[in-house]
Amino acid sequence: MTTQYDVAVVGLGAMGSAAVAFLAARGVKVIGIDAYHPAHALSSSHGDSRLIRLGYFEDPSYVPLLQRAYQNWRALEAGLRTNVLEITGVLQIGAPDSKIVSGTRASCAMHGLAHEVLDREETARRFPVFQLDQNEIAVLDPQGGYLRPETAVMGYLKLAAEDGAVLHFGERVTSIDPDDAGVTIRSAEGTYRSRKVIVATGSWIAELVPELREHAVPIRQVVAWYQPRDGFVTQPGRMPCFLRDEGDEGSYFGFPAIGVDGVKVGRHAHFREPIDPNQPNPPVNDTDTALLDGFIGRRLPAAAGTRANATTCRYTMLPSEDFLLDLAPSSSNIVVASPCSGHGFKFTSVVGEILADLALDGGSKLPIGAFSFDAMRRYLNGRAS
Ligand SMILES: Cc1cc2nc3c(=O)[nH]c(=O)nc-3n(C[C@H](O)[C@H](O)[C@H](O)COP(=O)(O)OP(=O)(O)OC[C@H]3O[C@@H](n4cnc5c(N)ncnc54)[C@H](O)[C@@H]3O)c2cc1C
Repeated sequence: MTTQYDVAVVGLGAMGSAAVAFLAARGVKVIGIDAYHPAHALSSSHGDSRLIRLGYFEDPSYVPLLQRAYQNWRALEAGLRTNVLEITGVLQIGAPDSKIVSGTRASCAMHGLAHEVLDREETARRFPVFQLDQNEIAVLDPQGGYLRPETAVMGYLKLAAEDGAVLHFGERVTSIDPDDAGVTIRSAEGTYRSRKVIVATGSWIAELVPELREHAVPIRQVVAWYQPRDGFVTQPGRMPCFLRDEGDEGSYFGFPAIGVDGVKVGRHAHFREPIDPNQPNPPVNDTDTALLDGFIGRRLPAAAGTRANATTCRYTMLPSEDFLLDLAPSSSNIVVASPCSGHGFKFTSVVGEILADLALDGGSKLPIGAFSFDAMRRYLNGRAS
């Protein structure tokens, strides 16, 4: 006999692991299914660290969600009795009119967020690892820091299991068929019935959500770690996490020397190379390392010792580079969680809550209007006209 669930969660990466934990905590009968194991190397949720910041340059409308995300991260830590979120501050560097600097200041001003604006000399005095050009300034977000992605994913799965969630790993879902009463979910190992399903399959999202086939594009992302030349100025506490606006060259991000591999840097969206999610990640090549070696040597010379490690990961981009968190147009029994265009991890703790709301209540009190299929259509129509 097929077991009947209230909610099934397909994909147990960042968004799915949080969703399954929020659902199990609400006492519903939930199953989570993942094709691989937690925080595996083909997912978008591995690699030691993810930035979190409150003064969001991308759009001030993200800030209320971030405030909720911070609360939920602290609740996760209390539940696990371990640290997931470390506050180091995030320094956002660029020309005064650059997108990152001006956007961060606008976001902080609109929401009354604490921040400091530092000129080149003050930045050099307080954070000597960073080299600023004459015309550049920095905005310090004192509430910024980093998250530990593997601890978060494993932690949400642990809490979900403790609250009675059924979790299957190494099982690939091959189809989701909605009907009036719910959905039928099939894999090579079994068939499941559920009232609702949340699809949170990261870079594979388009395979199970046909509405995203034209729009969700997995791209290659590369990050590298460097043994610092000066181990003093790159310690967390002396070096904040950072974002750096390089104008036409895009933006870079980085972390202090958190672990044995040292200082980590990457360029947001790297070379924007589309990849096939069903193939292994293309290996790191000389062009990748030349880009990141050049950046760290130029902008953080005290950190630019031996490159200890470099790896490939995946972003999955939507056209607007926003999120999509909504019921599927084809069936209100299907909830879609996009992989969030390369900036979603920090929101995982609030996205889990939102996905549980969408599955159980059909909507959420949290402000997600900008992340609907309608909003995506409006964006595409605006771009076409
Ligand atoms: C290098 C890198 C750096 C980043 N830096 C930041 C940052 O600093 N700050 C930030 O906020 N965000 C950052 N991001 C983005 C963030 O990490 C992602 O938005 C987030 O991890 C996406 O999570 P997800 O749950 O959607 O996807 P994933 O974690 O990839 O999870 C998807 C899961 O679905 C499973 N799956 C797929 N298909 C099926 C199927 N058919 N059946 C069953 N299971 C399936 C997969 O096995 C996988 O486990 C970064 C991303 C990368 C790659």
